[in-house]
Amino acid sequence: ALTIGIVGLPNVGKSTMFNALTKNNVLAANYPFATIEPNVGVVPLPDARLTRLAEIFSSEKILPATVSFVDIAGIVRGASEGEGLGNKFLANIREADAICQVVRAFEDGDVVHVDGKVSPESDIETIHTELILADLQTLEKAVVRLEKESRIKKESKPLLENALAAQKVLEQGKTLYAAMKDGSADLDEAEARALGLLTTKPFIYVFNLDEDQLADTELHEKLRALVAPADAVFLNAKLEMDLMDMSPEDAQEMLEGFGATESGLNQLARTGFHTLGLQTYLTAGPKESRAWTIRQGWTAPQAAGVIHTDFEKGFIKAEVVSFADLDELGSMSAVKAGGKARLEGKDYVMADGDVVEFRFNV
Ligand code: GDP
Repeated sequence: ALTIGIVGLPNVGKSTMFNALTKNNVLAANYPFATIEPNVGVVPLPDARLTRLAEIFSSEKILPATVSFVDIAGIVRGASEGEGLGNKFLANIREADAICQVVRAFEDGDVVHVDGKVSPESDIETIHTELILADLQTLEKAVVRLEKESRIKKESKPLLENALAAQKVLEQGKTLYAAMKDGSADLDEAEARALGLLTTKPFIYVFNLDEDQLADTELHEKLRALVAPADAVFLNAKLEMDLMDMSPEDAQEMLEGFGATESGLNQLARTGFHTLGLQTYLTAGPKESRAWTIRQGWTAPQAAGVIHTDFEKGFIKAEVVSFADLDELGSMSAVKAGGKARLEGKDYVMADGDVVEFRFNV
C-alpha cells in the first residue's frame, strides 16, 4: 500500500497527531490478526456513501478504503549531511510515497520551539532545505554519470537535461513537486523519481493551530499561500486526540463549537488519499458495503483486479450504477427499472462514485 510519511521539526505536535491517528487504526478493528507496526497508522478514508449503501443493501459490514501514515522520527537539521540519524531519516522519506509536514502555528509558552520562536514559514523552509540539499547531492552524482553516458548513448541526453533542469529549480530553493505542480519546471516526473529525488514526492502540509485559530479563515489563507500549490490541512492536534475519546455525536458537537464541520484527521485522510493520486469505487451487498482503492484513470479490468486477480484475467463486463442514482432512487431494482444501470466493457475508465458488480469467467 502507498504510505504518507509524517515529518516536522521537534515539538510541533507530530506525536500528538500520530497518536490520534493510530487511535483511529482500522487494522486493529477489522483485521485482528494483522501485524501492526508501531510507527504506522492505517486510518479509514471517511466516506458517508458507505453508510447509505449499507442501508440500501442491508449490509452487515462497512469496509472503508484506508490511508497509511508512517511516523518518520529523527532530527532533521543536518540530515542531508548524512550522519547517523540523518541517513535513516532520509532513507525513511525515500520509502514514503508522499510527505506530510506538520508545521507548528500554535503559541504555547510551555512548549519550547527549537528555534525560539513560532514561525511556520521558517519551519517549512528548514525542512525543505534539508530535502533540497539531499536532492542536490543526488543530482551532483547523477549529472557526472549522465554526462559520461550521454557521450556514448543518445538516450541519456534527455535524462541529463532533466537532471540539469531539476538542479536549477532546487538551487532556487523550490521543491520539485511545487515546480512540477505550478508548471514552472517542465520536468518528467517519472524520470525525476527514477533518479531517487525526494522533493518530487507529493507534499501535504498540516498546520497545527491553537483552538481559537481553527475558525480563523484569514490566517488559514495566509498559511495556505505559504505552501501553494500543495494542499494544506488545519487542525489542533490536542483536540484531535480528545475527539478520538468521544462518541461521534459529542465529537461533532465539539467540532461545531470551534467552527469546524469535520475533524482535522478526516480532512487529512481525504487530502492524503487524493494527493497520492488514488480514488475509490464501491461494491455493495448484504455481506458488506465496501470501498476499493484504485489509481485515478484505471480501467474496469484493472479495478476488478484489486478484488481478485482472476476478476481481471477473466473480465467480461462491469455492471455500473452511480451512487447518486442509487441514493436518489433508493434501491438497485429502481435504478435498473429506470434504465440507469450501465454495462461497461474493458476500456471503461472508472469514475468516482461508481457502484460496481463485475462479470467474469473463471
Ligand atoms: P513532536 O516533537 O513534534 O512529536 O511534538 P509532540 O506531539 O510531542 O508535542 C510537543 C508538545 O506540544 C507536547 O507537550 C504536546 O502536548 C504539545 N502540543 C501538541 N500539539 C499541540 C497543540 O495543538 N496545542 C498546544 N498548545 N500544545 C500542543
